[in-house]
Amino acid sequence: MTRLIFLGPPGAGKGTQAKALSGMCNVPHISTGDILRAAVKAETELGQKAEGYMSAGELVPDDLILDLIRERLSENDTATGWLLDGFPRNVEQAEFLNKLLAEINQTCDVVINLEVPDDELVTRMLSRGRADDKEAVIRNRLEVYREQTEPLIDLYKGSGQLRSVDGNQEMQRVTEALQQFVQCEVNAKGVEA
Ligand code: AMP
Repeated sequence: MTRLIFLGPPGAGKGTQAKALSGMCNVPHISTGDILRAAVKAETELGQKAEGYMSAGELVPDDLILDLIRERLSENDTATGWLLDGFPRNVEQAEFLNKLLAEINQTCDVVINLEVPDDELVTRMLSRGRADDKEAVIRNRLEVYREQTEPLIDLYKGSGQLRSVDGNQEMQRVTEALQQFVQCEVNAKGVEA
């Protein structure tokens, strides 16, 4: 069973690392950013409501996100675990997740905090070329992260779930550093063999 939350500023490589671990452990990578971008592309009601916030680098309102997470975590493929990337993003979302997990008799094993210096974050995001990766929007996303998401680091430190990983190294090294915190079926079998 692998249940992980990926924290860390925008541009830290959460998506890349979550994808790698999700493949290794065979559990779904649940990225609220990816879900929202797909909704914008498909021009669904959710996408239409979310688009303005996303292109300004603001968080979309919690009421657009919470039901979506509740539904996603009730799907069959989450039976072996999940990797959450981009959720929770503020204290309210973290409290909601705690309650939801208690309701469905689940716990989160580890909260990974990927640490990368600001200069490097901006460089990485500028080179990605995503719609919301323009310099002013990047700055706003970093500010929103500091104000709303960073307080979660202390919250999860307090609960003993936080593990910090240096995200400012080669991608493969970061994946290796993460593996020591992740006990997934694949690894457990590998150790036994
Ligand atoms: P990300 O791909 O995680 O960087 O998310 C891209 C954008 O989607 C963010 O800048 C927010 O506008 C929105 N978003 C993603 N996840 C959340 C969330 N949990 N709560 C609110 N907004 C979110």
